[in-house]
Amino acid sequence: MSEGAREMTMSALNRIRSRYDVVVVGARAAGAATAMLLGRRGLRVLAVDRGAYGSDTLSTHALMRAGVLQLARWGLLERIESEGTPRVCRTVFHYDDEVLEIPVKPRDGVPALFAPRRTVLDRVLVDAAVEAGADVRHRVRLADLLRGAGGRVEGVLLQDVDGETSAVRADLVVGADGLRSTVAARVNAPVTRQGRHAAATVYGYWTGLDVDGYHWHWRPGAAAGVIPTNGGEVLLFASVSGKEFLETMRGDVPRGYRRVLAEVAPALAQGLSRAQLVGPLLGFPGHAGFMKRPWGPGWALVGDAAYFKDPITAHGISDALRDAELLAGAVVQGGDGALAGYEAARDELSARLFDVTDRIASFGWDTAGLKALHHALSDEMKREVAAMLGRSAPGPPLARTA
Ligand SMILES: Cc1cc2nc3c(=O)[nH]c(=O)nc-3n(C[C@H](O)[C@H](O)[C@H](O)COP(=O)(O)OP(=O)(O)OC[C@H]3O[C@@H](n4cnc5c(N)ncnc54)[C@H](O)[C@@H]3O)c2cc1C
Repeated sequence: MSEGAREMTMSALNRIRSRYDVVVVGARAAGAATAMLLGRRGLRVLAVDRGAYGSDTLSTHALMRAGVLQLARWGLLERIESEGTPRVCRTVFHYDDEVLEIPVKPRDGVPALFAPRRTVLDRVLVDAAVEAGADVRHRVRLADLLRGAGGRVEGVLLQDVDGETSAVRADLVVGADGLRSTVAARVNAPVTRQGRHAAATVYGYWTGLDVDGYHWHWRPGAAAGVIPTNGGEVLLFASVSGKEFLETMRGDVPRGYRRVLAEVAPALAQGLSRAQLVGPLLGFPGHAGFMKRPWGPGWALVGDAAYFKDPITAHGISDALRDAELLAGAVVQGGDGALAGYEAARDELSARLFDVTDRIASFGWDTAGLKALHHALSDEMKREVAAMLGRSAPGPPLARTA
């Protein structure tokens, strides 16, 4: 933990200002990145999170090229690697018994893919936000939004773990508070796109597995994945439709997990007899995707709060990092037109990926259909990377005055 971050996490509400340019609610992939980018542009930013600094969250964490690209452009990739996050130099698709290997070519400052634990990624982003001048407070939650004339959001009412509250005014309140965003609910952010399907995911961390690269295993009705991560551990997940999970897995999740792995990735499942599961299995029962209007009078949304898609395509963090930059650019530019531009850019880059993800999450495909969906996904991912490369990289931290 950096000194700055340690100090910030020890203090709570007593050393924050009564007014900021921007208050960000939620300080993980989307929120910490947004706070960092705005801080680097000289804005006075407060980011709060009800969770603890450096804590884990329910999420597997395979980054796609677009996500790694953002970390590289922001100068954070070396830190991620220095935390022992292994390079992922190939992606292997297993369709039934067919194996398709795709090497990860180093280019555009991306030497490989990475899947940092959220305890690493989110902490690196928070430290970078603090270094950029943002105030970051953990174990502080949004209790309510403050409203002005005509209902415009004008700030937040915060509460620390001791129940102490503090009102903070801001020109803009950003909800980066995840799938069940309080900010989105309080401003009644309209849903602009709705997914129909939801996959369930069960995952655990293993040692003693000799794995090279991401492996995605697919059979009709089920999927499994292999994600190498920090500490020599390998994340193994099993996915089925939400309906299938309720009917066949929920009663005995460990047994269901091993059954799906054995069906979808038999060789991998056999190797588990020589491996050790570290910690408990973690489960996500599924949630249909949505896109919400991500801005309004005095407020904006970013990350899962604004746009959630099924984890089956492992793209949420990458998109959260992308949208943090799109939003930060719009905030610096200022005005409703810029925020409308943020929404348009996000939608232009996300709509097809969202729809493809929803169709994959249906588990209603045959193998040929799935391959076609993966081709479409790959095209969208390339388009996303090209779009971010076309933007000028956000500038270095500005020298700050008191
Ligand atoms: C099972 C599963 C597997 C996934 N696998 C992948 C994957 O492999 N790759 C990938 O890219 N994505 C994956 N995702 C998606 C990814 O987890 C999300 O897209 C990502 O976490 C979004 O980041 P975020 O910052 O928007 O939200 P979050 O990471 O959810 O952070 C929101 C933060 O807001 C805080 N918060 C909430 N309410 C309040 C409040 N009232 N006051 C203060 N703080 C608050 C929370 O404490 C939390 O820390 C997966 C998701 C799931 C569920």
